[in-house]
Amino acid sequence: MKNIHHFVNGKIFEGESKKTSDVYNPATGEVSAKVTLATKKDVDAVVDIAQQAFHSWSNTPPLQRARVLFKFKELIEKNSDELTKIIVSEHGKVYDDAKGSLTRGLEVVEFACGIPHLLKGEFTENVGRDVDSWSIRQSLGVCAGITPFNFPAMVPMWMFPIAIACGNTFILKPSEKDPSCPLMLAQLLKEAGLPDGVFNVVNGDKEAVDALLVNKKVSAISFVGSTLIAKYIYENAAKNEKRVQALGGAKNHCVVMPDADLDGAVNGLMGAAYGSAGERCMAQSVAVAVGGIGDELVKRLSEKVEALKVGPGMDKESEMGPLITKDHLDKVKGYVDIGVEEGANLVVDGRKLKLQGYEKGFYIGGCLFDHVTSQMRIYKEEIFGPVLSVVRVKDFDTAVKLINDHEYGNGVSLFTRDGDSARTFVNKIQVGMVGINIPIPVPMAFHSFGGWKRSLFGDQHMHGMEGVRFYTKLKTVTSRWPNGIKSNAEFIMPTMK
Ligand code: NAD
Repeated sequence: MKNIHHFVNGKIFEGESKKTSDVYNPATGEVSAKVTLATKKDVDAVVDIAQQAFHSWSNTPPLQRARVLFKFKELIEKNSDELTKIIVSEHGKVYDDAKGSLTRGLEVVEFACGIPHLLKGEFTENVGRDVDSWSIRQSLGVCAGITPFNFPAMVPMWMFPIAIACGNTFILKPSEKDPSCPLMLAQLLKEAGLPDGVFNVVNGDKEAVDALLVNKKVSAISFVGSTLIAKYIYENAAKNEKRVQALGGAKNHCVVMPDADLDGAVNGLMGAAYGSAGERCMAQSVAVAVGGIGDELVKRLSEKVEALKVGPGMDKESEMGPLITKDHLDKVKGYVDIGVEEGANLVVDGRKLKLQGYEKGFYIGGCLFDHVTSQMRIYKEEIFGPVLSVVRVKDFDTAVKLINDHEYGNGVSLFTRDGDSARTFVNKIQVGMVGINIPIPVPMAFHSFGGWKRSLFGDQHMHGMEGVRFYTKLKTVTSRWPNGIKSNAEFIMPTMK
């Protein structure tokens, strides 16, 4: 049995813990490895190492830090096939989807390569007579990232390339369900020339997370995961005087207007609802059919959902892979049972799917509900599986109200040909990431990613300039040099006369 440990100070670190957790191959249902779960003592030792590495790294010129990232980018490109296969083997998603997610992470590295430019401050000559003032952004210290299972490369890469480019050191606590990809990224950073101790990976569960939250030497916490844990992280990081951004769960709506390009909407919904088996925080899990479009939308969707090709992620024919674990599969099936009990119309039922040769894999077929209402649990709660609910509403205003009343506000999209509806939608909708005729509006690396309401606790979104702001603190200097002119003590607030 393969054992997976931590990566600390440039090498594999076993730590003192004897606690482990099983890592599965979701396609076969077999346990592929055991991952060590760090104790508080292990985590504290890693924080000390990251803190020691901080002084030298934060004083390394940004251009040299960028050169390490340029090399890292090259190494990811060179090793992308291996990294992708690792993602598929532990997460289960299909190969091309896994590769796409790696590319989205790589784009943040590309953005971070521009850090010498991004860190340039502001300067004003003569804010007063012979007085100059300037602002600089300095690194924070040891930063930590706690990440979910569904994007083992991309979500950590929303965080650490920018954090280390800004001169911080970083401790990543990835999901214990698919820890191997982050460990390979750590090896590649070392190969790229990153000094030991600047980037570390600690595997663990709640004990490791709590150790990071209470350690006074950790300056900032970035979290992505479910809303309950995001709130816990937000509250406890703040209580321990840390900067924090905590991204949570989602229930993303896709509004289909009667004038929409229906083929575009249906194809968009298929990819957004069933891609990655719905295990995406930007998955569309609610289709809002406006006016009379419901019958035709459900008819076209159901034909495509029935025809979905479900199979192992490495099979080129597969459009959708398995779910992450047996527990998660049971939870998703449980939600489908709940939807039936609540009275929604289950148009396509994927619960009984069995794949020959992969009977123990964690598969479920695509599920489609019609006539879902806003009172139902399947509407209110995040299912995180391939289950799409169609809600029918009479008009555009009702659709907007429905979405704005939901507790989550991560992503949303509108399919229409009408510019006025599109503009009003962008203006009124209480959601952080909006797509107009775009089913999955994930912002590019040089923009920023983040939801509203209970999809994000904290002030700053991830990557782009928001990332640079999160991983640096502002210092503003006001300066005058003696010039021989006599000055007197002044007891009033200095102002420009
Ligand atoms: P999760 O909340 O169970 O786990 C996320 C991280 O928190 C993991 O590293 C895990 O080890 C740790 N953790 C779990 N329980 C903990 C506890 N009690 N105390 C402290 N730490 C704990 O999430 P998941 O199941 O890995 O991922 C799926 C969730 O992540 C979904 O809700 C999805 O919407 C969300 N997600 C959100 C975004 C976003 O950008 N908003 C992106 C990806 C995933």
